[in-house]
Amino acid sequence: MRPKRLEMLYRSLIKEHSQSPKNRGKLTDPDGEMELFNPSCGDLIQIQYHLKEDRIEEIVFEGQGCAISLASASLMTDLMQGKTVREALDLIDLFSELIQGNKSAESEVLGDAVFLEGVAKFPTRIRCANLSWSALEQALEEFKKGQGDESKDGK
Ligand SMILES: [Zn+2]
Repeated sequence: MRPKRLEMLYRSLIKEHSQSPKNRGKLTDPDGEMELFNPSCGDLIQIQYHLKEDRIEEIVFEGQGCAISLASASLMTDLMQGKTVREALDLIDLFSELIQGNKSAESEVLGDAVFLEGVAKFPTRIRCANLSWSALEQALEEFKKGQGDESKDGK
C-alpha cells in the first residue's frame, strides 16, 4: 500500500476507535484483569476478561487516555474475542514487533490493528499503543502460572 494511503487509514482508524471505542465496560467475576498506567502520557487502561477453558470468551476494557491508547485498546479487545491464550500471546508479540517497526508477513493476522504500525514513527507513542496489549499479556502470564506447566501440548 502507498504510504499516503496508510497514513490516512492510520488516522481515520484512530479517530473512529477513540471516539467510539468498542468493548468498553466492566465484567462481573472476571477470570483475569490487569490495570496499567503509562506515566509518560497519563494513559490508564484496565482490561478484564472471561475465559472458557483456555479461550477468551469475552474481553472488555475501561480507562482514560490519549486517542492512540484508547483506539489501540478498542482494536485489541476486538481482535482477542474468541482467541486461545496461546494465540493471544502470539498476537501480542507480533503487535509489539510491528509497532517497533518490524513488520512481518504475518502481521496481517492482526486485522485492523495492523494499521497502528504508523506509531512506529513516533517513539513516544509506542507505549500508548502497547499499553492495553501489555496489560493483557501480564494478566495471561499470571493465568498460565496459576495453571502450572501446561505448555507441553501445542507447539
Ligand atoms: Zn497516550
